[in-house]
Amino acid sequence: MAGVKLLKLLANLGYGSRKSVMTLFRDGAVTDAQGEVMYADDTWEPEMQLLVDGEPMDPPPGLSLMLYKPTGYTCSSKDIGRLIYDLLPPRYKLRSPALSSVGRLDKDTSGLLLMTDDGQLLHRIVAPKKHLPKVYQVTLAEDLRGDEAELFAAGTLVLEGETTPLKPAELIVHGPRSAELTLTEGRYHQVRRMFAATGNHVTALHRSRIGGLDLQGLEPGQWRTLGSADIEQLF
Ligand code: URA
Repeated sequence: MAGVKLLKLLANLGYGSRKSVMTLFRDGAVTDAQGEVMYADDTWEPEMQLLVDGEPMDPPPGLSLMLYKPTGYTCSSKDIGRLIYDLLPPRYKLRSPALSSVGRLDKDTSGLLLMTDDGQLLHRIVAPKKHLPKVYQVTLAEDLRGDEAELFAAGTLVLEGETTPLKPAELIVHGPRSAELTLTEGRYHQVRRMFAATGNHVTALHRSRIGGLDLQGLEPGQWRTLGSADIEQLF
């Protein structure tokens, strides 16, 4: 994005149509950190610290963040009901390139969700060959049978409606109805379907970790941007 005109940058960040962003410039609402008025056809450089209406401009493209998704929110920008985008600044769902979730969590699942507008990064994270560990805290309706850890570790379990066995997964039992499950792949409703295959039912599901990233410092509904040191925790 370096070298792009400020008019285009602000429109892409969701500040409005080009016409309404033009009005912001005409009103002198876009300034640098020293209060110098900036112009629509000024060229953007990453080191610029711009203010829009006196507030720091939203992060430029290349934005990645982690969200502590509460239960009850859907990982979509279009569904009805509560959406993960409702937890972010309203402009974030208007950005181009779009800010998308890296994979999904079910509406009833809480926990760590990554979001990025960097398509290459997204594909690097979700690439099947990557085997990035994702850790889930699972609460069950019935007592564990006792053979689940061995079954999940074997790498032979085939989920209903599928033909390819799941990759080995690690189960650490915390109590008769609670356990921690580490997956290195992400099939549709995978955790719920794995326990369904053992005749059990997941009553609560929480993702506590992806690679080296966890939710430390965040409460449900809170988020923070990721820096390069965070991204390194995923590779
Ligand atoms: N597995 C599930 O079943 N649901 C999730 O949200 C994530 C993993």
